[in-house]
Amino acid sequence: MDLSSSLMPPTGTKHGPEVSDDSRTAHPPVNATGGEIAAQAEATLLAALSGGQPTLPDGPSTSRPATQAPGMVQSVNLLDLMAEDSASAAEASSLRCLRLSGDATLVIPFTADGARVNAHYLNDPDVKGWILCPGPGCALCAVKQKVEQRVLVPVYDCMAEEVAVLAMSGALRPKALLPQFQRVFQTINETGLQVVSISKPDNMTYDVRSWPIPATAPDGADVIAKFVQDMEQGRVKLDSVFLTLSNETLRALPSVERKLALHGLA
Ligand SMILES: [Zn+2]
Repeated sequence: MDLSSSLMPPTGTKHGPEVSDDSRTAHPPVNATGGEIAAQAEATLLAALSGGQPTLPDGPSTSRPATQAPGMVQSVNLLDLMAEDSASAAEASSLRCLRLSGDATLVIPFTADGARVNAHYLNDPDVKGWILCPGPGCALCAVKQKVEQRVLVPVYDCMAEEVAVLAMSGALRPKALLPQFQRVFQTINETGLQVVSISKPDNMTYDVRSWPIPATAPDGADVIAKFVQDMEQGRVKLDSVFLTLSNETLRALPSVERKLALHGLA
């Protein structure tokens, strides 16, 4: 198996201005945990934006008291909504993005098979975080909201003892994350699994080092095996770490609605 090839971007891929892979950590991304939660949150958000009451399937959120008169726009926070739907949350995937910092984060990569997605960073009063670009007809693309490519790959987070998703920009400059990680996978391919230390000395560079897993160190084999099984059976999706909103919902966000109007696209 050629671990290194599947993460190589296609030749001719156009990269925008190089930004740090994780440059927006000051605004934690909305962590959409699972399709069901995201769908419910979206339904609630859409209902709130249109001034109506949420029309949700059975669940605790439907019993929330109406605190505002019909017709008023109600601000909602997706994270709060998700926390309220704790029963559903327990059933949904808890996949999250790995947060990187100046301190070394220790991970064990176990597959070079990832996903490449296009996403927008939305800084809206109602929705703050990474949103998957819905593709043709996207309201955010229409108002020239920057779209960025992210390569997602699952890794074992040694300290959290769970699998998390490493989101890398498509940047290929030497100190960017993706090319350094590709070299790690080449080493893994040749010599076996490695512990990888990733730190971020500044916003533009990553320091990536790797070494063979020490014999006495916990290697997360059981957790990794379960994750691989869940992936194979479609129970987890890497792109669930980003929020998925329909074009209808995006267009209804007040900030997007205003931009569409100013572009003459309302
Ligand atoms: Zn878009």
